[in-house]
Amino acid sequence: MKRLQNKVAIITGASRGIGRAIAELFAAQGARVVINYKSNRQAAQQTLTRLAKDSQAIAIQADIASSAGRKHLLQAALDEFGQFDILVNNAGILHFSDFIEYSENDFDALMATNSKAPFFLCQDFAKQIIQQKTAASIINISSMCAFRTSAYPIESYEMSKAALTMLSKSLANSLAKHHIRVNTISPGIIKTDINRANWESNSHEWQETMRCIPQAHAGEGKDVAAAALYLATDDARYTTGADIIIDGGLTSYFPV
Ligand code: NAD
Repeated sequence: MKRLQNKVAIITGASRGIGRAIAELFAAQGARVVINYKSNRQAAQQTLTRLAKDSQAIAIQADIASSAGRKHLLQAALDEFGQFDILVNNAGILHFSDFIEYSENDFDALMATNSKAPFFLCQDFAKQIIQQKTAASIINISSMCAFRTSAYPIESYEMSKAALTMLSKSLANSLAKHHIRVNTISPGIIKTDINRANWESNSHEWQETMRCIPQAHAGEGKDVAAAALYLATDDARYTTGADIIIDGGLTSYFPV
């Protein structure tokens, strides 16, 4: 028996990276998968072609930073599959910029994607679950940056992820009565496009970071997907308000 048989999973930002890895694993476990993408239709199509052969999946274009985009995503998913069971708030952006130079426009764009969008997607998802009278799982892809600062100038990102992690704890509390579990995954360093410039350049900061990882290498999207699968299944039925750190030991290590 596949572990997500008959479940409908919405995954934001799933045209590449961690979101794509989650989509692949969930589909392989029998989920009907909604692949959200912002603009790269070709990449979303590639994700679809990588799913297990008998998968039911659709790709939906929507900018989740906008209210209209979020409404469109959830309505299109409902029109296609008629129910929701799992929401993975995975889409996120990162700005590398000196704090002193960082603009308000960039701040607003980052918060709209990383913190505000998950807040309102959780709200609309929960409304549908309450109407369905079923149990559900929300998984928010946060970051170790929610609780550890970085050598890179990414203050707004760190703040946005701290907000997301706290939101998850708050919602674990307020949505438990509706049988909705809410958890976070905090990845450490996972090699994807979001940090491509750093690992491709093999910069001093990147090498320093690798030296601080007890397992001595970056992770892959599938490492995060494995934790997401656990949180999505009924095996995690008593797990809510939790945070799973996937970081090769980085955040528990003090490098002196
Ligand atoms: P990525 O850049 O490959 O993926 C992010 C995805 O989000 C992209 O597909 C992008 O198009 C999408 N996206 C961004 N804004 C969007 C919007 N407004 N609407 C819809 N989609 C949007 O990077 P990734 O590493 O796969 O990141 C996935 C998540 O994991 C992010 O939330 C990121 O913050 C988090 N994370 C990544 C790492 C890492 O080291 N890679 C570490 C910790 C947390």
